[in-house]
Amino acid sequence: EVRAQRAASHGPGRTADGHPVALLANIGSARDLIADVEGVGLFRTELLYLDHTDPPGEQEQVAAYTAVFSALPGRKVVVRTLDAGADKPLPFLRLADEPNPALGVRGLRVSRRAPEVLSTQLSAIATAAAATDAEVWVMAPMVATASEAAEFAAACRAHGLPTTGVMIEIPAAALRAPSILRDVDFLSLGTNDLSQYTFAADRMCGDLADLLDPWQPALIALIAACATAGAEAGKPVGVCGESAADPDFALVLAGLGISSLSMAPRSIPAVRESLAAHTLEECRQIAKAALAADTPEAARAAVRSATPR
Ligand code: PEP
Ligand code: MG
Repeated sequence: EVRAQRAASHGPGRTADGHPVALLANIGSARDLIADVEGVGLFRTELLYLDHTDPPGEQEQVAAYTAVFSALPGRKVVVRTLDAGADKPLPFLRLADEPNPALGVRGLRVSRRAPEVLSTQLSAIATAAAATDAEVWVMAPMVATASEAAEFAAACRAHGLPTTGVMIEIPAAALRAPSILRDVDFLSLGTNDLSQYTFAADRMCGDLADLLDPWQPALIALIAACATAGAEAGKPVGVCGESAADPDFALVLAGLGISSLSMAPRSIPAVRESLAAHTLEECRQIAKAALAADTPEAARAAVRSATPR
């Protein structure tokens, strides 16, 4: 009993029967790191570029990446390449005025116009990775097609970065997950944007919060499809959107076969505790109930009744 309690408050994420579900941190810089974290599942690199009238130089980037990597020897750090545009506009890119920035040249699409931004970043990540012992994975935001994923993976390999993945934030990419997984090593589901694009509901629009609810059946179905594709390919599929921080939803994700959950560091303890209180089989039953529900309310109720506390 005491040991179970200790496992619930410290150490790696595990279900009650010991099935590992990595609990990783979302960070924007080395300052966000906390002690004893299993690793970083989303290193947002935009911070480096904000307030810059010119893109940050390669050396400046190497220093910022090294600060994070060197704090996590032997641990996984998933670096997301620049996710500019839309809600994260960058002055130096001076992208044409777009009537619909969320549907415009953002994320990986920026490299259509400014390929040097990505190549400089990959080069800096590779230099920092080579100088430290962190296990560095790289992923691209806002990928829509398998061709984009393949091109990104090739660019990473050309820079000596072997472990590459993509974020699944666009329904088209979720639907093509099996094909995308032929070219990359892992997927990370950005459920914030995946909700936005699935429901055509601006993620900043409070009036549409019900549509942006991660318990929506359509979102759960897309997550399940990606998890199944990962299991079939034998490749990890994680979640790094806000939904991973919901202790009940984390059970659904684990039951669907999601292998890592990445969230704001302060959310990790409650999710760890929730996982530690349920076996993998219980999580699978919970996921089945959530998948069968027709409304978010029904999904929540089904999970609540399966998790007495
Ligand atoms: C997401 O879209 O879920 C995500 C994790 O990326 P961001 O919130 O930075 O867009
Ligand atoms: Mg996103």
